[in-house]
Amino acid sequence: MLAEKRGIKRLRVIVAAFLAAALCLSLGACGKAEEAVEGDGKPVIVTTIFPYYDFAKNVCGDAAEIVLLVPPGSDSHSYEPTPKDVQKVNACALFVYTGGEEDGAFAQLLESADAEVASLKLIDSVEPLKEQLVEGMEGEADGGYDPHIWTSPKNAGLICKAIHDAAKTIVPDLDDSLYEAYAAQLDELDADFAAYFAEHKEPLIFGDRFPFRYFTAEYGVEYYAAFPGCADYTEPSAKTIKTLIEKARENGVKTIYYAEGADTSAAEGIAAEIGGKTALLHSCHRVTQAETDAGKGYLDFMRENLETLKNSD
Ligand SMILES: [Zn+2]
Repeated sequence: MLAEKRGIKRLRVIVAAFLAAALCLSLGACGKAEEAVEGDGKPVIVTTIFPYYDFAKNVCGDAAEIVLLVPPGSDSHSYEPTPKDVQKVNACALFVYTGGEEDGAFAQLLESADAEVASLKLIDSVEPLKEQLVEGMEGEADGGYDPHIWTSPKNAGLICKAIHDAAKTIVPDLDDSLYEAYAAQLDELDADFAAYFAEHKEPLIFGDRFPFRYFTAEYGVEYYAAFPGCADYTEPSAKTIKTLIEKARENGVKTIYYAEGADTSAAEGIAAEIGGKTALLHSCHRVTQAETDAGKGYLDFMRENLETLKNSD
């Protein structure tokens, strides 16, 4: 099923890339696309998803124009490149993306752009982890790397360092103190999570999908969830729900989590069964327009997650 879904996705990407190429030929306007990206004279950095957009903004300040490719409220897992996206990449000074099998549509996008576009593949900046099926989980581990690398604050630090170093090549006089100040806040966040998990050993239980593989690995936290990663799945089976209820009871867990944008009904059903509650842990992946408008960033979402964890008993 999953492989079939991915196959269709891949086909769509190829079709989209072909359409983009065809459009370029017919308009003869692919070399430069000034109207696609307003850089205001500054170098433009195109980022694929919100966390990288937020990191680049914090690390670069006003020295570069940061563009977010996947608009707020839409899902990067089902991303399909548009001709306009190809123009944006063609016109940028640096393209920042995750890389890896699960991020294939963005690699395709980069391939359909001019060869000389500088790119930063962030999965190379961290220790990549494979998607994993834990007890009770449905779906199939396809052997690919989980793409949610930023959910570990330590990785976020490594990612920011990589963005800073790459940005220096296009903005030589970049103010290093921006990166240093932001990295210090990430270190503090990491220390606060480490302190919390040193005292709280119960597993995290998710009623739906699970984008926190790197986060739980960082702090040695056990977890259970209905599905790996955060692609769209149908609702979990009765057997999966039963396993999650058992795990919650065995471990005295009182809060069942869901990720942002997830279907909360399974989490609610499990919580009702154990006499507990549900809570959101935000992976910073599917950020909404309202959250963007409110000026929220990675540190805000992660600080809220820490508060949520502290209130989980
Ligand atoms: Zn995701």
